[in-house]
Formats: sequence, C-alpha cells, structure tokens
Amino acid sequence: MRLLTLLIAVSAAGQSLDAIVARETAAIAQKLIDTRRDIHMHPELSNQEARTGKLIAERLRVLGFDEVKSGVAGHGVVGTIKGGKPGPVVAWRTDIDALPIDESNFNVPYKSLNKGVKHACGHDGVITVALGLAEVLSKIKKDLPGTVKIIFQPAEEGVSDTEIFGARMMIEQGALKNPAPTAIFAFHASPLLDAGKIGYTVGPFLASVDSVDITIKGAKAHAARPQQGTDALVTAAQCVNMLQTIHSRRINTIDPSVLTIGTIHGGDRSNIVADKVKMEGTLRTFNEQTREAYRTFVKQTLQGCTSLMGATFETSWTGPSYPLTTNPETLTRATVPTLERIVGKANVQMVAPQMGAEDFSLFQKEIPGVMMWWGIRNEAKGIVSGLHTADFDIDEAALPVGVKTAAAILLDYLSRK
Ligand SMILES: [Zn+2]
Ligand SMILES: [Zn+2]
Repeated sequence: MRLLTLLIAVSAAGQSLDAIVARETAAIAQKLIDTRRDIHMHPELSNQEARTGKLIAERLRVLGFDEVKSGVAGHGVVGTIKGGKPGPVVAWRTDIDALPIDESNFNVPYKSLNKGVKHACGHDGVITVALGLAEVLSKIKKDLPGTVKIIFQPAEEGVSDTEIFGARMMIEQGALKNPAPTAIFAFHASPLLDAGKIGYTVGPFLASVDSVDITIKGAKAHAARPQQGTDALVTAAQCVNMLQTIHSRRINTIDPSVLTIGTIHGGDRSNIVADKVKMEGTLRTFNEQTREAYRTFVKQTLQGCTSLMGATFETSWTGPSYPLTTNPETLTRATVPTLERIVGKANVQMVAPQMGAEDFSLFQKEIPGVMMWWGIRNEAKGIVSGLHTADFDIDEAALPVGVKTAAAILLDYLSRK
C-alpha cells in the first residue's frame, strides 16, 4: 500500500498557510458580504456585464495582481498573480452573468436594482468568493509556490443567437495561455447543500446541453375544410409527443437524458389551418454517443411524424451547445483531502450528477478541471429556493467558507506539483 502524504504549505515564517488564509479571510468577512450585495443589486445579463467586469478589474488592480486583462470575450477579466516561490500555474474560474428573472417581489435589503434581472444562479456569490480568493492570495504572494490565474467569465447563461460566447470565446481569446495553467477549478452554488458543505462528483457532474430549433411546415386552408391544407399544428402536437419516445424507446434506459420542447408557436387565427409551427427544445445527456445519437433520432422521428401528415420540417442545432461537465478522477480524488481538511470530513459530500449544464466543460476539454458544488442553503433562514427562481438566495455564511476552500485547493495543487 502506498502512503499518500499531504504537504500542507507553510509560510517563510513557518506558519501554516491554512492559518494565514483563515485569518485573512476572517479579516474580510464583512467586505465579502458588502461585495456580494453590491453585485447582487447590480445584476447584468450575458454579454452585458460591463459594471461587473469593471468592478472586478479595479479590485484586482488594487490588490496588486501582476496582470489584469479586462475586456476578454466581452466583459470577462483574467487576473494573474505570480507567487514569490517557483511553481506551476493553476486557474480558478467563475462566471459573472445574471438571468432575465424579476425579483421585485423578493423581500431582501439587497434587492436587484436592475428590473427584470437577477443573480439567480449564485454567480454573485462565486464572483465574491473569487474576489476574496484574490485578496487572500495577494496577502500571501511571497509564499505562493507558483502562479494563480483567476478567470472571470461572462455569458455563461447563454444568449440565444450567438454561437460563440462565454467559455468558448474566453478560450479563443487566450484565457488559458501566457501563462498556461495545468489545471482549473471552480465552484457552482448549490441550494441543495447547506452552507459550510462542499459537494463533488468523480466523473460526470453536469449534463451536456444542445439546443434545437424545429420548424414544421404545412399548408393553410379554411379551418372548416382542413382536408384542403396540411395542419402544421396537429402535426407539431404529434411530433412533440413522439419526440418524448426517444428517451423511453431508443436510448438505453440506464443512460440519463432529457429532451424538452420548451416553446411552440404557430398559427394565425382560430379559423385558419396553421401552415407553420416553430418549436425550441433543449437536450441534456451524459455521454457523447447518446448526444450524437439524439441528432439522428430527432431527425428520424420528425421525418416520421411529419410525413404521415403530409407536412415537412427543418431542424437547426444552434444556440447554447457544450459537452458534459466531468471531473477527472485523479485530480478530483487528489482534491478531496483538501476539502475535508478545510470544511471537515462530514461536510464534504459525494453527490449525484445533475441535469443542469455549465460551459466550464469547455475549459475541461483543454486542461484537467474540477467543478464542485458550493453549499449555500440554510433552511433556518428560509434560503431553500432552487437555481433560476425568483426567490433564489444564498446564505452569506458560505462566503468565507468558499474563500478558504478555494485558496486551499489552489495552494495544495501548487504544493503537490
Ligand atoms: Zn444558471
Ligand atoms: Zn450558474
């Protein structure tokens, strides 16, 4: 049996870096809350994160980061801090955009000032953790055994008609170059885990996502004489139902996947047979073969359900599309002892994969990367709402936990290498 020894980084003065990080994090506890509330009150939609990007870049410059690149992939920011000791390069990633969700009925003192826009995915929290991480790292710069890049990525939630955005554009614009990190880590807020806890998976973490636009084409006729036309609406109704049989009849039943048709629009009036129906769907899978197979099965299904009614169809797979987020075994298992040391073994949970999707997966395609769930739930405070809901909130007690854990993950990675 091989014994694994975990080296806990120590400062020049002989103090454990864990202790220094804990002290520096405690010193900024109120600042973390203030920062999170400021960002929460000023949420910005994907590709519109100008204020957020400016705030981040200014903070990093004040903290003395060696390099601060702003305007990456729109409003993204990449900050680099070089430690006083030699070592590898590691990255931390956070997303910075908000959602088109109105929170005017959500009664908190830090309510969104941008009507109709809300940080409902906890990105206000993970930005704050990343800024706290930046601050703590700046305090231990001379003892830092390597270089840390903090990547603040815009447009994770997606925009409907742009193919290249978010993580893809950041990578294209060199976020993982000069210097090139050898690993990348990230948190996503989890309303299923109590504040103070961290969740992880080994292997699949979140699903792949693909978006499909479907147009069913028929022919207009008087509603009283449907036999003279081709009813795109009735055809579409059958297609929606038949598409649901892909999962139940054509995919291995132990292979999770879901195809949801989320919108359907068609027809002009009650007394005219509709000649055109447009539908939009999203596909989530947990393996690349299934993901590919769906494209064929969707086409075959539409061919069947349209031809039997004499209609035709078009599909286009545009919009958000990225692979599944999956945590590599070696790096994930090497990270777990760090989590256990910082938050306690009882607060580290191996969790099941979820059907949500994250373009962090694109960073994972480039270099080993681990995304973890950062617990933000607090039932006693009534903080229990799910991601992307109007009353989603985070327990701010999770902020310092996030900072300490993120710092330890990076310090341990740099020390291990
Ligand atoms: Zn989200
Ligand atoms: Zn998110």
